[in-house]
Amino acid sequence: MPNSLTAETIVIGAGISGLTAAYRLHQAGHTVRLVEAGLHPGGLIRSHLEEGFLTEAGPNTFPNTATEILELCQQLKIRPKATDCKAAKRYLFLKGRLIALPQKPWQAITTPALSIGGKLRLLQEPFKPRTQTEDISVGAFLEKRLGREVVDNLADPFISGIYAGNVNDLSLPAVFPKLWQWEQSAGSLLKGMRQSKKKKTQSVVERQPMRLFSFTGGLETFTQELYRALPPENCLFGQSVIHIEVTETGYKLQTHQGEQFTCRHVVLAIPAHSAAALLKTLSPDASHELAQIHYNGLAVVHFGFNRADIPHPLDGFGCLIPRREKLPLLGAIWASSLFPTRAPEGQVLLSSFIGGAHHPEICGWHPPKIEHLVLDNLQRVFKTREPLQPTYSQTIIYNKAIPQYNLGHLAKMQAIENALQKHPHIHLCGNYLHGIALNECVKSGLAAAESIITPLR
Ligand SMILES: Cc1cc2nc3c(=O)[nH]c(=O)nc-3n(C[C@H](O)[C@H](O)[C@H](O)COP(=O)(O)OP(=O)(O)OC[C@H]3O[C@@H](n4cnc5c(N)ncnc54)[C@H](O)[C@@H]3O)c2cc1C
Repeated sequence: MPNSLTAETIVIGAGISGLTAAYRLHQAGHTVRLVEAGLHPGGLIRSHLEEGFLTEAGPNTFPNTATEILELCQQLKIRPKATDCKAAKRYLFLKGRLIALPQKPWQAITTPALSIGGKLRLLQEPFKPRTQTEDISVGAFLEKRLGREVVDNLADPFISGIYAGNVNDLSLPAVFPKLWQWEQSAGSLLKGMRQSKKKKTQSVVERQPMRLFSFTGGLETFTQELYRALPPENCLFGQSVIHIEVTETGYKLQTHQGEQFTCRHVVLAIPAHSAAALLKTLSPDASHELAQIHYNGLAVVHFGFNRADIPHPLDGFGCLIPRREKLPLLGAIWASSLFPTRAPEGQVLLSSFIGGAHHPEICGWHPPKIEHLVLDNLQRVFKTREPLQPTYSQTIIYNKAIPQYNLGHLAKMQAIENALQKHPHIHLCGNYLHGIALNECVKSGLAAAESIITPLR
């Protein structure tokens, strides 16, 4: 029989959420053990240097509003690197050409992203009635307030770019809580935005123009440093937890390799479907709700090209592609425009995203077929005369990439919280709870740790 290892807390999952929870607990003097199914820390965060190209398998950047990440960077003594200033510009592929998106709300007046009719429709926003239901899809909400064109030309590609999702499935209050709050409190987005700007409490950070950050060695620098701050002997990789049961003093966990652990607290820092499987007997209600959280698949395709082969200044973050353009490509990040050192001299690195809610079948294809389609789509976007010849390629396929905050998401979160009240020593954190962005994951990891360090009495 394998020995049973004991710790005050076991954190399952070494993505950014679990690493943050473990780091905070260790900092507070708790004995914490981290158990990860994969072979490396970081979860979705993986930076890879090959042939002079530095690629990201998952996330690329975090903004200057990510206060908790920036605070941890200070503690870990690592310096984030801002993207090149041209990254503020974003492009939209509309009616067969790339157009720069407005960077300020007033630029909506001149943007070719909306027709004159679409712009006039924006003026009606303050007169549209407040939503009376408890939930509404992003598409329905924005269509009512801002018109169909805003949904098709702006919201749809934006949502595809972030969630690989569908505007008609995602819940507005869960995905854009600020817009919901503005409408519900002030009766209109315009009035709500004005009121929030006037509030003296607005932090200095919020008033600064948006900047994006990563690290010279990629985002993995952050998760590696979190991991390095933990005692290595307390971190186990290649061990998937398959069972949790209640004991007299807490919980007993078992991994697929037969390793056993006992602990008082368990932090589940794993995707919702994995948490659902582990909680099946402990909390069938929480497990049922967690199992209903849908994840969309996504393929990330990195291509290196000779700079001279791309007939565009690439002076921006990248481009988004609305569904109405009928290209399966969701968008591309012009990675070497954000960080010029990420491609060898004379070359560029473009990271494309394909699949998502509208083309789930693509994630079932072999990489060469996906790459062929992405190349074809990029040729149309850049209008190249000759077929594009990449100097480098790499494809990562996720069958379950991003949790979808579909209609009813907030009620589901409440139901999970209620169900787990019977298990106050089981703590959840991760990107399916209150935000998919990296800083929201960090906040959820810190909150899980805090509920162990300072439990409610
Ligand atoms: C392609 C892509 C691009 C993105 N871009 C951005 C971006 O630019 N900016 C941004 O802010 N966000 C971005 N995101 C979102 C962000 O990357 C994620 O929300 C975040 O990384 C999730 O971290 P996590 O720790 O919650 O989960 P994960 O990173 O998924 O980590 C969970 C870990 O749990 C482990 N695990 C699962 N089950 C078990 C088990 N039973 N036992 C042990 N271990 C287990 C897994 O192996 C995994 O390592 C992107 C996401 C994707 C997919």
